[in-house]
Amino acid sequence: KSVVNLIAAGEIIIAPSNALKELLENAIDAGASQVEIMVKEGGLKLLQITDNGTGINKEDLPILCERFTTSKLVAFDDLREISTYGFRGEALASISHIARLSVITKTAQDECAWKTTYREGELVGGFDDGIKPVAGKTGTILVVEDMFYNVPSRLRALKGATEEYAKILDVVSNYSIHVENVGFNCQRLSGTGLDLMIRKTANRKDRIRSIYGSNIANNLIPVNIEIDKKFDEEFGLNKCHGMISNTSFENRKAIQPIFFINNRLVICEPLKRAINSLYSTYLPKGHKPFVYLSLEIRPQNVDVNVHPTKREVRFLNEDEIIEQIVLSIDQILSKLDS
Ligand code: ADP
Ligand code: MG
Repeated sequence: KSVVNLIAAGEIIIAPSNALKELLENAIDAGASQVEIMVKEGGLKLLQITDNGTGINKEDLPILCERFTTSKLVAFDDLREISTYGFRGEALASISHIARLSVITKTAQDECAWKTTYREGELVGGFDDGIKPVAGKTGTILVVEDMFYNVPSRLRALKGATEEYAKILDVVSNYSIHVENVGFNCQRLSGTGLDLMIRKTANRKDRIRSIYGSNIANNLIPVNIEIDKKFDEEFGLNKCHGMISNTSFENRKAIQPIFFINNRLVICEPLKRAINSLYSTYLPKGHKPFVYLSLEIRPQNVDVNVHPTKREVRFLNEDEIIEQIVLSIDQILSKLDS
């Protein structure tokens, strides 16, 4: 059983950046307004994430890392949406199988914080001995150490600390662009300061400026695609908004388009191809624009089970929806051109 769990876990969490994405989503789901990330050796030695969200109830601590334990199913209606939003109670369980996981958490009602450690899905020490009182503020600190210590093949497959840290910074950057009203800090333990600092009060344009610089930030166009009711009913696209640039800079580190579907950072190759091919008619060869788009698609229509990490998604009426988005962006860009 333990081997099966380990294999399953190693497919869901394939790199420190996957784990970080899950932990970041949990912090945001917990209503945090400030999130601090600390990384050592690309997240392989240490990945620590501190949030000022609701914290976790003491009673829930023993089962926190059991598979399919989730507090995010509030009503029966949500059952259909559970997989599409990624609420499935698998993240912490998986992490506890491939790393050493400890949690310090405090709710507003608690007088002190509680500290626990997990191995292979279980609370070390059990309810009686495994939950220790410590000092702490309301919120949660998740400490993930020695990732893949028991999966040497996975460790060998990873590139290196620098690349893994770059992927972590990308995930934090992308979420900080999407989630306004939350502050994000990210740093390396061995570093000389913050590698990313987004103030809670910064607006989206300022967030993009801190990450991509003024050249991009000063050339942003907001996207607000009006979806008519008929299109929504037929194809299931409720909303689409975002920010795009009308310029780009040659030789710049390639900027990947950023897509959120139903508030989760996703990879969507067909949409990416369509956007890139549209831009190729506006920008010189080799130039990459900045593109951030947030789509709201009827949850039942979204399939996140394309890959165990749930990063890649497919959705119903993909062609129609992508065409609608590309048409709207084309209209925006062609107006600027003339
Ligand atoms: P899911 O997010 O799919 O519910 P996870 O394994 O990511 O599953 O987390 C399990 C549960 O642990 C969550 O449903 C939530 O109740 C709790 N949890 C995890 N991280 C946090 C956090 N940072 N703050 C508060 N609760 C958390
Ligand atoms: Mg989660």
